[in-house]
Amino acid sequence: MSLIKGIESANAEYSDKFTKGDLSLPPAKKAVIIHCMDARIDPSTSLGFQEGDVHVIRNAGGRASDALRSVIISQRLLGTREIIILHHTDCGMLTFTDDKLRNILKEETGQSVDHISFLPFGDLKQSVLDDVKFLQDNPLVLDVPITGYIYDVKTGKIHKVDR
Ligand SMILES: [Zn+2]
Repeated sequence: MSLIKGIESANAEYSDKFTKGDLSLPPAKKAVIIHCMDARIDPSTSLGFQEGDVHVIRNAGGRASDALRSVIISQRLLGTREIIILHHTDCGMLTFTDDKLRNILKEETGQSVDHISFLPFGDLKQSVLDDVKFLQDNPLVLDVPITGYIYDVKTGKIHKVDR
């Protein structure tokens, strides 16, 4: 079955049993999770959330600076008051440098993208600490609890990152 046919068939089944059409727009648990886009992780099943509970912002690495626009909207317009940052073991962001990706793009497109940082990292724990600090120090972000975790893709367990 093609991907699109599979999506449509899965959704037909899902929507047949759908009972959550009355959820309110602001997340019930007033929280936002910033999470890597890695396909091996499903924050709903691994962290026990359901539709309507939390905002989930996903990007490559779960980087806070990339998520800033959405965090501001989440807090100022939709009332979230807690942030969880979730990075993970075996992340693709540990496998390249800005220069490497910039060179690939330059070679393949002729475009110079030296002004873009793709936000890779060399140290997983440090990347979580850096992102917690980025949000704590940002004047546009409300002073709310921010907790950082590393998710282990081999065990499905999260580990809190403390200084
Ligand atoms: Zn990742």
